[in-house]
Amino acid sequence: MKSLLRRVALGLFFLWLVSLSFASAYNARPKLIVIIVIDQFRGDYLERYRDQFGEGGFRLFLDHGANFTDCNYNYANTRTAPGHATLLSGAYSNGHGIMANEWWDPQKKRVVTSVQDDGTKLVGVSSSAPGSSPHNLLADTLGDELKLATQGKARVFAIALKDRAAILSAGFSGDGAYWIDSKTGAWITSTYYRSDLPKWVQDFNDNKHAEKYLSQQWKDGNGNALRKTARRPGKEAGFYELIGWTPLANDYEFDFARELIANEKLGSGPATDLLAIGLSPNDILGHEVGPDSPQMQAMVVTTDRQLASFFDFLKRQLGLASVWLTLSADHGIAPLPPVAAKLHIPAANLSTAQMRTQINQWLSDKVSPGHAAEYVKSLDYPIAWLDQEAFAAAKINEEDAERNVGEALLSIGLRGYYTRAQLARGDVPNTEVGLQYLHSYSPGGGWYVMGVPAPFTVGIPEGTDHTSPYIYDTHVPLAFYGLPFQPGTYRTHAEPVDLAVTFASLLGINPPTHAVGRVLTEALEAPQHEPHRAMGGSR
Ligand SMILES: [Zn+2]
Repeated sequence: MKSLLRRVALGLFFLWLVSLSFASAYNARPKLIVIIVIDQFRGDYLERYRDQFGEGGFRLFLDHGANFTDCNYNYANTRTAPGHATLLSGAYSNGHGIMANEWWDPQKKRVVTSVQDDGTKLVGVSSSAPGSSPHNLLADTLGDELKLATQGKARVFAIALKDRAAILSAGFSGDGAYWIDSKTGAWITSTYYRSDLPKWVQDFNDNKHAEKYLSQQWKDGNGNALRKTARRPGKEAGFYELIGWTPLANDYEFDFARELIANEKLGSGPATDLLAIGLSPNDILGHEVGPDSPQMQAMVVTTDRQLASFFDFLKRQLGLASVWLTLSADHGIAPLPPVAAKLHIPAANLSTAQMRTQINQWLSDKVSPGHAAEYVKSLDYPIAWLDQEAFAAAKINEEDAERNVGEALLSIGLRGYYTRAQLARGDVPNTEVGLQYLHSYSPGGGWYVMGVPAPFTVGIPEGTDHTSPYIYDTHVPLAFYGLPFQPGTYRTHAEPVDLAVTFASLLGINPPTHAVGRVLTEALEAPQHEPHRAMGGSR
């Protein structure tokens, strides 16, 4: 009897040992990866406002993480949809296919967004608008590879105010992507992911979280009132217009992120989970006030405090030793043209509507004298989308049509142009700029011409914008926090495509299908010979 007890005890002891070895092997993998992408957060902000940051927010990356100060997108498509697709796929538009937020669809004869999908419906709002999905993505993402490597055990989520930011980050196999109904601020999704909202999302919406941010005063660090989020009499405005551009909307996003982590039990499953958070409010504000305004400064300093409180939540929920964090942005921003012009820098606000009229006039005179036609259907400065039928009626093929539109763009002051046909052939000069435009090509959409804008010009009559190959649009932060990263400031060349490739390498999984980034080895702990470790397996 005694020996039986001893044998059972011994057996239990060995079982415990085995479970320990499983656990310790698995500890080398994080429970959760959190990717924070701040919409329109320029690469210089971290240094510019460093002395105003408190503990535990941006300084978690700056003081205790690996911070790459020279990270630039190596393409010209510095917009939200391409930026998020690039970060998560480790590829540029010529790999992932997303070259703009929206484009002219020659079949549907209307402008479509990068994620709009007529085969889906929105979930969580009664609307006749089509739903959204990643159906235009031509490459898979880090989340997809994590799913493949764990046979679906990893859980992948993405949230943002904007659908494109959430959907393109969640990839094809994401368990959920959530964004807001711009009118009410309610969190919604599409039938691509599920047919109804999970109970916790429904509860969150029913609690009217969005409304508590209405009629609030946004104050800067010195208590000065900057703006109020109240409805103006007689003006129809929803959550997006009223609150979307204030730090309150980032609070709203972090509230939702906390609920998501708690309710979906992220970080407590058998594999590494992934959450991408796109902070959209910084972009909505930045377009209006520009990067050099006191409001943007207040926004960045508030974002710092919000991050600190969110990281503190992660610490309490999971422990920061079990989490890998990364910070980046989808693009930068040009200075407000009047602000640059005051310093004698040639800068201008241009009107897209006016430019399109001029281009169509120029083309009509050249292509069909005496017959005015709309050859350019949409101008998303500096990209022109062509009406193939109008050119066909004038018996002009794609090659010539696009060259004509390029010349029309030069006539209104653009610096150069690349046609779709030319980019499809890979026919660009062997220069840094040539490579940027090769990376900007996508076979999606119809005929188009990418104009090269003059620096410091934006295609809106007021405010500022981003969509150029220049540093103010391409320079973004890229910073990591977590056990594998050697803390420090890294001034070596880095690109947003390196993020997914570095994480894939650390996780021991394949990088996404079209990834072209490099593993940022200089920021990793000195290499060691480790015993073989399978994803979630034993030694
Ligand atoms: Zn923007």
